[in-house]
Amino acid sequence: MPETEKPLFGHPWIFIRGVPSLTFLPPEGPSEVAFAGRSNVGKSSLINALVGQKGLARTSNTPGRTQELNYFVPDGYSGEGSDLPPMAIVDMPGYGYAQAPKEQVDKWTKLVFDYLRGRATLKRVYVLIDSRHGIKKNDEDVLTLLDKAAVSYQLVLTKTDKIKAPAVPKLLAETADKIRKRPAAYPAVLSTSSEKGDGLDDLRQAIAETVGIVNWK
Ligand code: GDP
Repeated sequence: MPETEKPLFGHPWIFIRGVPSLTFLPPEGPSEVAFAGRSNVGKSSLINALVGQKGLARTSNTPGRTQELNYFVPDGYSGEGSDLPPMAIVDMPGYGYAQAPKEQVDKWTKLVFDYLRGRATLKRVYVLIDSRHGIKKNDEDVLTLLDKAAVSYQLVLTKTDKIKAPAVPKLLAETADKIRKRPAAYPAVLSTSSEKGDGLDDLRQAIAETVGIVNWK
């Protein structure tokens, strides 16, 4: 099967490693897409919903994994020539804890910025925004970090089932308008509900296009 036609989500994924500092990063290989967002934005739920596996990404309450970049790959992926799609999903540590001490925030920023700046195989970061809250100050800070690192990113609204259906297109337009001048932002914003499954196929399609895989089901 040509590489570009390997199915992306129709098989099990596994957690391969947590990266607390850059020395633990896996060697650069397949294309990566990363997910970022404020703690509790629904990041674990969205990753699990995308791959159809409830327990893959753990909630940010799981001790130990909170400050690491968590790597997921298709189960059985064995490098070049593998029958599985060559890509990794990177779950970035959540940010914006109300009580986070400054040194923890600094550590987060350093890990994330070093990763963003140096990772040639990172194709795009999906920055999740809670539909009920919109873009907050610490989201703005992260977008600025991404602009500085010149890493392409796209905004994804989460939990759209929690707001009224007619409010979704309005929020999408408002959010797109807010990032219009940001140099590394992909102009279109996506909307999702992990609970209801809304928007998941659009996000899967966007990810597939980003990593260059045609048959993404
Ligand atoms: P994380 O901290 O960003 O990984 O967030 P989680 O995935 O752990 O979700 C945080 C909370 O939001 C949990 O209570 C989830 O059940 C809830 N949640 C996540 N996604 C959705 C969604 O699409 N709709 C609704 N209604 N709740 C959601």
